[in-house]
Amino acid sequence: MKLYPMIDCIRRAEPFMDKGATVYQQFLCASCGAKQTMDEANKFFAAGICERCGHQTNILAAGCNYALYSQIGGILIEEHFVEVDPADPAL
Ligand SMILES: [Zn+2]
Repeated sequence: MKLYPMIDCIRRAEPFMDKGATVYQQFLCASCGAKQTMDEANKFFAAGICERCGHQTNILAAGCNYALYSQIGGILIEEHFVEVDPADPAL
């Protein structure tokens, strides 16, 4: 899982949350490297405790990602934050 600045993740996730998508913030433990998913949906936290080793990670400094779940036409879509390349001609 790649990590991105939290503000970028929030900016990207917000319009989807407004449309009813469910978003879970994810981060990597700075101590043991375990991938962690927050229990609370549609909230972003500045820090997180690792469920495996108990270490507190500064997510603001380390960056994060998210798992986004959205129902479109009865199909469950799951996506993670990816950086958009401004040079992409499709934009
Ligand atoms: Zn850990």
